[in-house]
Amino acid sequence: MRQTSDAAGSGQKTGLRTIPPGLHFVATPIGAARDITLRALDVLSGADVLVAEDTRTLRHLMEIHGIALGGRIVISYHDHSGAGALSRVLSLVAEGKSVAYASEAGTPLISDPGFELARAAAAAGLPITAAPGPCAAICALTVSGLPSDRFLFAGFAPTAKGARREFLAGLAAVPATLILYESPKRLSALLADMVVVLGRDRQAAICRELTKRYEEVTRGTLSDLAAGYSERDVKGELVVVVDRAAPVVATEAAIHAALETAMQSMSVKDAATFVSQTLNVSRKIVYQIAVDRRQE
Ligand code: SAM
Repeated sequence: MRQTSDAAGSGQKTGLRTIPPGLHFVATPIGAARDITLRALDVLSGADVLVAEDTRTLRHLMEIHGIALGGRIVISYHDHSGAGALSRVLSLVAEGKSVAYASEAGTPLISDPGFELARAAAAAGLPITAAPGPCAAICALTVSGLPSDRFLFAGFAPTAKGARREFLAGLAAVPATLILYESPKRLSALLADMVVVLGRDRQAAICRELTKRYEEVTRGTLSDLAAGYSERDVKGELVVVVDRAAPVVATEAAIHAALETAMQSMSVKDAATFVSQTLNVSRKIVYQIAVDRRQE
């Protein structure tokens, strides 16, 4: 177990810290190098072993913040490293070493490697911690101006048109703000499919180059954004944030139709709960209609 000396992050002294044995996921900046927490610097400074998706990026980040490698090597680990690399990292944790893992940028596991490591460490009963920090999805949600009470992070949409439309259809009715990552090359195709599958009028935001010099947030309806971006040569990294569908006002006929199906396999109570949630109508009203139907 290694002790940190003065992890010189941004010229600050983070003091002596002992990093306990375990697998420690460390979030790193998504643009601005100073977006790293003091605790993340402690962990990078004090861990016995450093593991990274991109070893060069991690070394560079440590250099910027004045953290010495001190004879430690940086082991490479990413999604295609194979079972040998995974078991090597786990063995080090099992031996009682403190192992810090950083992906190329942002929070490990979020459209980045780390899940297989976390799953295997959890299954083996090994300690896992996170030094939380930057994540493009959360940063985009924060600046989008769209509702943040409930959101769904959907990662990258498939690249083939048919699969992408099917993927979007699966998100269409989700009662939450949608957050997607996308490459600038495919943004225009994604927005065009969103107009078709999610509708023209949903509010959305394209959040580009977050925390970087040319940071830009463009807000509008999906159709406005699709038209605007079809003409643009987009560069950099971006996140697409889309509002949930406007609530549908359920008619009495729609409630009857939904109850008819639901009551074939559910009790009156369960069918009323299910239909009221699905159609976003008061359960009391739906329950009364269900009872009347049963008595007819
Ligand atoms: N693990 C990272 C995180 O916590 O956000 C995400 C890694 S994923 C491989 C990279 C994608 O995240 C990019 O293609 C882009 O969609 C998004 N992204 C990363 N940095 C960004 C930034 N500074 N501005 C906008 N989007 C960004």
